Amino acid sequence: MEDFNTGKYIEQRLQRAMAFLGPLRPGFVDFLTSPKKSTIVNFPVQMDDQSVRVFRGFRVLHSHVNGPGKGGIRYSPDLTYAEISALAALMTWKCALINVPFGGAKGGVCCDTKSLSENELRHITRRFISELGDNIGPHTDIPAPDLYTNEHTMGWIYDTYDIMHPGRNNRPVVTGKAIDLGGSLGRHDATGQGCLYATLRFLERIKPAGMKNLKNQRVAIQGYGNVGSAIARLFQNAGAIITGISDSQGGIYSEKGLDLDAINTYKQKNNTVVGLAETMSITNEDLLQLDCDILVPAATSHQIHHDNADKIKAKLVIEAGNAPVTPEANEILLSKDIIVMPDILMNAGGVTVSYFEWVQNNENQQWSLAEVNQKLNDKMVQATDIVISKWLSLNEMIIESNTKEQDEDKAKQLPVDLHTAALVVALHRLTVTIEERGIWP
Ligand code: NAD
Repeated sequence: MEDFNTGKYIEQRLQRAMAFLGPLRPGFVDFLTSPKKSTIVNFPVQMDDQSVRVFRGFRVLHSHVNGPGKGGIRYSPDLTYAEISALAALMTWKCALINVPFGGAKGGVCCDTKSLSENELRHITRRFISELGDNIGPHTDIPAPDLYTNEHTMGWIYDTYDIMHPGRNNRPVVTGKAIDLGGSLGRHDATGQGCLYATLRFLERIKPAGMKNLKNQRVAIQGYGNVGSAIARLFQNAGAIITGISDSQGGIYSEKGLDLDAINTYKQKNNTVVGLAETMSITNEDLLQLDCDILVPAATSHQIHHDNADKIKAKLVIEAGNAPVTPEANEILLSKDIIVMPDILMNAGGVTVSYFEWVQNNENQQWSLAEVNQKLNDKMVQATDIVISKWLSLNEMIIESNTKEQDEDKAKQLPVDLHTAALVVALHRLTVTIEERGIWP
């Protein structure tokens, strides 16, 4: 059985990419991988029934080599420090790849939002932010929404921080806020929008399995939250047929395509997509194995793993969530000629528009939606092109070295996947910055 562990995942990805980076100074890898600062807090909250419950929260600043930390805050009952720490490293790579001036960070609170009232969630958020104190700040570490947090959570974070630091513009302390609080137009859909731009660019340039664009492509999406629902709508508008959708309670399927308006109304009322009329109910496992062209895991980590990778029928897997495909599964998909488009590229639209929000907040500006989306498109296309170029050049290099049979390094003999190519680009940028800054003092 494969060990589902995001720390191990990060290590395996890193090792594979390092094989293509050239020699680094001794100890350099340690510096690239060790989190800069970790904060763990336990704090009490008075619940609606007057009882007191202690919650555990984490914030990990992985790197500030490229600027202040940036990364989401998630609420989930089974969060661990190891998971948050690994996701913070992923953010460092993502920011370097998409080329925004931030380092990586991540945070969260162990709690089950479904069993908490809005009042309790507000108290948890306010107390967590006050416990973090100056570990977050507009120029130190800037949170954003993630699993089971949203613009309301970000509003409470801003308000709490602002009350703790009166008399200055604190809007850039957090992104993903409501528009009235200084949020950016386009931030709500940004992760899905960025995913669409990168997908269209990739299809246009590579045409995997003959796919030139999204027209009539059958798409299955796991997770119907902020990211998954935006992708469903945007991909459908671009011509795709959304045949399968799921959430934590299960999934639904329709061969002729799902009615997204009906899903939204149904989900709002019933808190799940399961049971919608004129759809077939399926399990989450069925959804992953649907006969479709494109599979989009947009929920939690490690959903496609050693035991189910062989059953995936899609021709293209788009990692819209963080770390949904394990390294072993990735190898299996590669051997079946299924292309996996990597998370650090495919969901980078969120952090990109978060960066735009931060710039607008610092300058007290509000850009138009057209301007935000144009800038987002530019960033996504640029990053996709760089990843494609690196992918093609690394594979050419392998073909050459395999032909000459000179290279003994086994890691270099395998075809290079897009994950490795993206990470080589990101790590190269980070190592250049570190060398240019120098190791203090
Ligand atoms: P969300 O809380 O809005 O939605 C998550 C969805 O996934 C919900 O529909 C939930 O029911 C579903 N889900 C949870 N467990 C599931 C399971 N085992 N199987 C099927 N569905 C399941 O979260 P989100 O903001 O949409 O984030 C989704 C993913 O995208 C996460 O991995 C997150 O880290 C990543 N991400 C989010 C953003 C962002 O801007 N929100 C940016 C980058 C990456």
